[in-house]
Amino acid sequence: MSQSPAFRPLPFLAEAHSEPLPGLRLQRLRRAALEARERFVQEGPVAAVATCELVTFPYPAQFAFSGAALSPAPYVMMTNRMQVVQFVDAKGERRTLLFNPSDYERGVAAPFYHALRERYGGFVSDKLMSTRHGTVQSHLASLGLTPADVDYLAFDHLHIQDLRGWLGGDGVSAYFPRAKLLVQRAEWEMVKDLHPMQTVWFVPGGADIPAERVVLLDGDTWLGVGAAILSTPGHTRGNMSLAVATSREVFVVSENGVATESYTPLLSAIPGVRRFAEHMGWEVVLNGNTREDSLSQYSSMVVEKLFAGHSAVEGAFINFHPSSLLTSHLLSPGLAPTIVLPAPNFGDVRPTPASRRAA
Ligand SMILES: [Zn+2]
Repeated sequence: MSQSPAFRPLPFLAEAHSEPLPGLRLQRLRRAALEARERFVQEGPVAAVATCELVTFPYPAQFAFSGAALSPAPYVMMTNRMQVVQFVDAKGERRTLLFNPSDYERGVAAPFYHALRERYGGFVSDKLMSTRHGTVQSHLASLGLTPADVDYLAFDHLHIQDLRGWLGGDGVSAYFPRAKLLVQRAEWEMVKDLHPMQTVWFVPGGADIPAERVVLLDGDTWLGVGAAILSTPGHTRGNMSLAVATSREVFVVSENGVATESYTPLLSAIPGVRRFAEHMGWEVVLNGNTREDSLSQYSSMVVEKLFAGHSAVEGAFINFHPSSLLTSHLLSPGLAPTIVLPAPNFGDVRPTPASRRAA
């Protein structure tokens, strides 16, 4: 496996994560998240970030708000998004990271989505129930980037991902000539030996990429000025979130919540969500398709909430930008998001200098 010495651990959080009792761990994580955030923003903003919409697809309504939303619709619609992030690392180099560059054409081979296609037919599930906004390739081209400009790929977790088209393996040639996958060690070890209750969400063989393309992360990782990976386990063992500082705010991206209101459920206008949160005494509502460790996922969402803070444009809401964003659709009445924050875009994305691109 590759090592990247230019990253640093994000301070305060690792110690809090190591507390074994879940209630005490949450208390300690709250303090640590605020301390880490303060240190993080002191270094200044990221160089650039762009948000790109990939595909809108159906997702079981019962999962989106842990069963809280009251609607007869079996599916909600979600829009997958990718962030292109450029940050200056500890060596002073500007690096390009793609966060959640889903290769959705390969991803439909995951057993869960395969079953959806079987049930509704390829035409319905692909044409009627899905909308393609652009591919990773087309978005990079419109930002003026080539595949050789990309240093790193990372995903909040590896459900539905097939990495072979991007990084090579199994006789497939790599689209990105020099990019490396940043992944939590816990996630990488897990995908190599899945439990039967996990298998439905994974593309068979999707993680069979060359070992030299993989950089293993151990917990919270400070990538460079204004960019960090937060360890946010629960949904999967090695789940992680992207945190970015711009000149006016911090935002966090993951799939732990499907909308910003997942972090402020008392402000949700979706029928059932506010009452559910009041009844349960929850301050966040989980996107709950896998319940591997719901206590950890809840605590991870509190970390995300405190680290992101409030939106600069919609101050009552948390500056959380879901990687799978709940999207209004005729097929899911009553399940439109209460609010959608403007997608994060900041600074100017630039190509990598030719000397490094060839390296
Ligand atoms: Zn997932």
